[in-house]
Amino acid sequence: MDGAALAARLRREIKEEVAELGRVGLATVLVGDDAASEVYIRHKHRASDEVGIEAIDRRLPASTPEDELIELVEELNEDDVVDGILVQTPLPDQIDEARVMRTIDPIKDVDGLHPFSAGQLYLGRQTLVPATPLGVMHLLNEYRIPIAGSRAVVVGRSPLVGKPMSMLLLQANATVTICHSRTQELARHTLDADILVAAVGLPGVITADMVKQGAAVVDVGITRTEGGLLGDVSADVAEVAAFLTPVPGGVGPMTIAALLGNAVRAARFRSGSLAFPRI
Ligand code: NAP
Repeated sequence: MDGAALAARLRREIKEEVAELGRVGLATVLVGDDAASEVYIRHKHRASDEVGIEAIDRRLPASTPEDELIELVEELNEDDVVDGILVQTPLPDQIDEARVMRTIDPIKDVDGLHPFSAGQLYLGRQTLVPATPLGVMHLLNEYRIPIAGSRAVVVGRSPLVGKPMSMLLLQANATVTICHSRTQELARHTLDADILVAAVGLPGVITADMVKQGAAVVDVGITRTEGGLLGDVSADVAEVAAFLTPVPGGVGPMTIAALLGNAVRAARFRSGSLAFPRI
């Protein structure tokens, strides 16, 4: 499944939508100088520029006290030129990530990590959903992978990827199994999967003998090594899977495209052209 190609098409569509809307502002907040986070922020800004979304780049030193970050988020909540707010994680140890996410105005919560956004997803009334699982759903739909009635197995249960992924698949009427680090006999579960999503961060944790013939396999994992980026799925899975996402060029570009889509969605919520549930 070619995420790079689909993402390029989505970006063209988003560019047209942004032009129609007039302007869309996406604020990113980076605390500290984590190298991987810097790369992600750079990619997000470049993609925003390309579709005409105004990216607002806010950076704070690694030693920033929690209250200062909270003040910045509150300022962005109030700022009318900001439609979406993204606080890049991980945050330094002195900062309570959950409190920061709770501070973001849910109407601007483009990462979908506010409890309101997560609760809406849980209830099946999505407002803003984390970009990675949203991007995966776009890919599955693009390749017409049947979801309703299928067996889906998600390996990983993080709030940003595994859990929302499971909820979206459930919402699309798959029968969903969620696996994690305490799952025993992982292969017993994965072998059952018509759709297998790996979101672990351990290169090669999914091998060919763990995959059902003809399955659709989505590799969310990204591990940086000297030899380049590695996914969670080992290369031999290509011999059994009917569909497989490459790393890089699969879920990564889809995540960025879905984030831009979320910024447009937030702008529509704010302008009233899409109804946002009253809190
Ligand atoms: P995370 O918060 O570290 O979560 C990893 C999950 O994997 C946890 O739920 C963990 O279980 C589970 N796990 C760990 N070891 C396992 C094992 N041996 N067997 C089964 N499950 C195991 O990571 P994340 O934020 O969800 O990200 C996961 C991966 O996706 C990372 O490589 C990340 O870089 C990548 N990622 C890629 C994109 C993209 O755009 N492509 C976006 C986001 C993340 P416990 O809950 O029990 O600890």
